[in-house]
Amino acid sequence: MTTAVRWQSRGSAFTIAAAADRLERAGRSVVRLELGVPDLPPPPEAQEALAAALGRPSAYTPPAGLPEVREHVAAHYSGVLGRPVAADEVLLVPGSNLVLHGVLLATVRPGDEVLLPDPGFPPYAELVRLAGAVPVGYPLRAERGHAPDPAEVAALVSPRTRLLVLNTPNNPTGAVTPGATVAALAALARRGGFRLLLDDAYRELVYDGSPPAAAALAPDDPVVLMDSLSKSHSLCGWRVGIAVADRRLVDDLAQLMTNLHCCMPDVVQRAVPAALRAHHRVRALAAELRTRRDLVTGRLSDMPGLRLHPPGGAFYAFPDITATGLTDEQFADRLLHRAGVAVVPGSLYGRHGRGHVRIAFTRPSDQLTAGMDRLHDFLES
Ligand code: PLP
Repeated sequence: MTTAVRWQSRGSAFTIAAAADRLERAGRSVVRLELGVPDLPPPPEAQEALAAALGRPSAYTPPAGLPEVREHVAAHYSGVLGRPVAADEVLLVPGSNLVLHGVLLATVRPGDEVLLPDPGFPPYAELVRLAGAVPVGYPLRAERGHAPDPAEVAALVSPRTRLLVLNTPNNPTGAVTPGATVAALAALARRGGFRLLLDDAYRELVYDGSPPAAAALAPDDPVVLMDSLSKSHSLCGWRVGIAVADRRLVDDLAQLMTNLHCCMPDVVQRAVPAALRAHHRVRALAAELRTRRDLVTGRLSDMPGLRLHPPGGAFYAFPDITATGLTDEQFADRLLHRAGVAVVPGSLYGRHGRGHVRIAFTRPSDQLTAGMDRLHDFLES
């Protein structure tokens, strides 16, 4: 029987992971550089808070989150945004994609347009199409260090534009958008009467000393902050997504969430304040990732046929592989099956991702070294 999907999936890093799993089950050795999942365990204080919560009666929570947890979260984001954030301006959701999903359902009508980074995190375009809206990609060109050009974005604004999504540090390029560009994009949204959704999932993982994007925002910018503890706090499986937005939108999102999933698991919510306090773990993860970034970029810059803009943040390198004469799909497929290294073809991230592959440096240094050795031999052959 056929299904009636209203969107076309281009596949994802999970598709590559499934292929790598199959090879491993068949006895092959694969260096796994495809998924963006940090390999550190959750912060110990968050583990303890979760364990303590497990003995309580389990219950639904209000759809926006437990009031006492929202208070903690609001205090944390007051620091992030440099302005007071009230508890009713924050919302907890199981995974940050639900922030974008909710904002789209609450703010766009069929035929409306949403400006998205290209290359960008694949669910953006999928969720925009699912909402009946039209994804309009703005290019992140390699020659600009994969940063958006505000003039180019402005030229794509139309009377139907309802939302502009910015992700910095960016998945898949690792590029950090300069503060002046963030401010220019926020001004563009204000002038155009639409919102800027800042996907801040990699805010804490910056290696070039750049200040967070939020520091470039004015208090009255029409911004929705979409945040996640998956990456910075090594909590991918706990599903902690956070929205910070104006009260009216948060109320609308809470209504939607009631119907979608009700609420984030109560035990996980009770561990969120402890996770947010674990600054030392976030710093340790960032320091470890910087070492790995240096290792991977050092090796990639010496390899024949690759061109790389070293990533300033997140945990991805996005080399240009066009000089090899292969498409990114062929490159990733052959690298996996012939050399045993799993990476993601850049075209999964959009038209401007073509000719690149995404390498996640979320593995320990010895595995990264093995992966880089295999990649080098593959390129030489
Ligand atoms: N945003 C970006 C840019 C990401 O790369 C990811 C995960 O890979 C997410 C959001 C989703 O994070 P989560 O659903 O785990 O909160």
